[in-house]
Amino acid sequence: MLEIKNPAQIAKMREAGLVVAAIHAATREVAVPGATTKDLDDAARKVLAEHGAKSNFLGYGGFPATICTSVNDVVVHGIPSADEVLQDGDIISIDCGAIIDGWHGDAAYTAFVGSGHSAELVELSRVTEESMWAGIAAVAKGNRLVDISKAIEGYIRRQPRPASGKYGIVEDYGGHGIGSQMHMDPHLLNYVDRKRGRGPKLVPGFCIAIEPMVNLGTAKTHVLEDDWTVKSNDGSWSSHWEHSVALTEDGPLVLTAPDGGKAKLASLGIIAAPDPLA
Ligand code: MG
Ligand code: MG
Repeated sequence: MLEIKNPAQIAKMREAGLVVAAIHAATREVAVPGATTKDLDDAARKVLAEHGAKSNFLGYGGFPATICTSVNDVVVHGIPSADEVLQDGDIISIDCGAIIDGWHGDAAYTAFVGSGHSAELVELSRVTEESMWAGIAAVAKGNRLVDISKAIEGYIRRQPRPASGKYGIVEDYGGHGIGSQMHMDPHLLNYVDRKRGRGPKLVPGFCIAIEPMVNLGTAKTHVLEDDWTVKSNDGSWSSHWEHSVALTEDGPLVLTAPDGGKAKLASLGIIAAPDPLA
């Protein structure tokens, strides 16, 4: 059974989503050469406290921090540390969430630390982010879950291959339902698996976190001894983008985007639902 939210619950999720957006803004400022990944976690804790929000990352399965900081060949679930200093030329994916009155938000972005990144890395992050938006654009009444997967994979496959090889669409992790818990049914693949069928029909009140992870090489990953940090098997660098999205009677609302997804969706020919808090 999928959890279908009423408009009041979606408004709560929007509140949580805006806290997540505020954490993104705050951590972007801190992600410069010389900063530690713990500095980023401290910035996130401060934003949560300022908004009276709880962390859904801290303590989740024993996770020791409020954000995941995944640098270079770390795909997801990197643990912030005072010993990990960001270097000029690094890329970092920052994933975080917030709870307001029991309702969850969850979103991630990839940032460039300093300057001098190769065109290939810039394109990796762009392709990953745009594939997320292609997935968001498929959150429409009458579509099925598989249409989101198809849109994400299709976008990536249509891009020119990077000079160093190929884009590895990570299969070991994916998107998920979100609402009264951070991780709920259904699991969302970032590729189409024909054995899985088409999945549930998307109806108003359906909420999903859409989060493609793309490597500049193999899609295969492994978990380090700390039981959290996920790296690409060939050491290729990785990008991760995520938004939490609600389908409403008036279309999609990107809960974790400052403008609810309005501007980006308009560029894709889609009218975002009005912001319930505006
Ligand atoms: Mg997520
Ligand atoms: Mg996340």
